[in-house]
Amino acid sequence: MHRILAITNQKGGVGKTTTSVNLAASLAATKRRVLLIDIDPQGNATMGCGIDKRAVERSTTDVLLGDSDAASAMLPVDYADFKVMPANQDLVAADVEMMGKPGCESRLRDALQPVMEQFDIVLIDCPPALNMLTVNALVAAEGVLIPMQCEYYALEGLTALVNTIEQIKAGPNPKLEIGGILRTMYDPRNNLANEVSAQLIEHFGDKVFRSIIPRNVRLAEAPSFGKPALHYDKESRGALAYLALAGEMIRREEETFNVAPPAADAV
Ligand code: ADP
Ligand code: MG
Repeated sequence: MHRILAITNQKGGVGKTTTSVNLAASLAATKRRVLLIDIDPQGNATMGCGIDKRAVERSTTDVLLGDSDAASAMLPVDYADFKVMPANQDLVAADVEMMGKPGCESRLRDALQPVMEQFDIVLIDCPPALNMLTVNALVAAEGVLIPMQCEYYALEGLTALVNTIEQIKAGPNPKLEIGGILRTMYDPRNNLANEVSAQLIEHFGDKVFRSIIPRNVRLAEAPSFGKPALHYDKESRGALAYLALAGEMIRREEETFNVAPPAADAV
């Protein structure tokens, strides 16, 4: 599993924030030490974790502008066992202020370095734009998790994102990879969704997560209670789908791990 995962798609409303919050809760439920970073000025992930975005003392903005270290800008979540670096509208100013400054694209990466040993996985909820905030997430990340709705034009949008990933890889972050593509708000009765899904698998193969997130009203309701679906209705199809995704990610990690280390006596 990539230790720092940017949850990115420049299209709005595809399920980035829902995925960030619910995957954070699901990975935390499997005892992973999780940090969720909100880097979207809308602050939806912050609110979805039950944190009042207007009342936070320190936020991702302060970290990007060098006014706070990462550890001081993290808050615990009430209902789940993970931490959040919150965000709000102030991030818009940070985005503008950073532009053109030397090293501006690697501020998040640099700020995270001292806290990385406290976490097994860091998820970054990106804004619906390919701006300096998203670039900071992509430079800090090892993997990109792309949530997408299987609809017309979805693949076209994906091409733009894949190009951006290639640019970042060729420049400031050679390690960056597509960690996985996640089909969200999926309705199997919809023929177009099935067609787009088939094309997606044709193009991206194993990069497409087997776990599929169905359209589920509990996932849409949970944020208004400031809770991940797992802590709002743990039996809901939405909560179970995100648990399955966490399980798939962990299994993938174990498979890689089983192959990777050489036997001690082979040296
Ligand atoms: P993004 O962060 O990409 O803009 P969101 O996660 O905020 O997208 O999702 C957009 C809207 O769709 C929100 O109102 C959210 O509650 C709803 N939503 C997201 N995923 C699902 C789902 N699987 N089923 C039902 N509603 C969903
Ligand atoms: Mg969002």
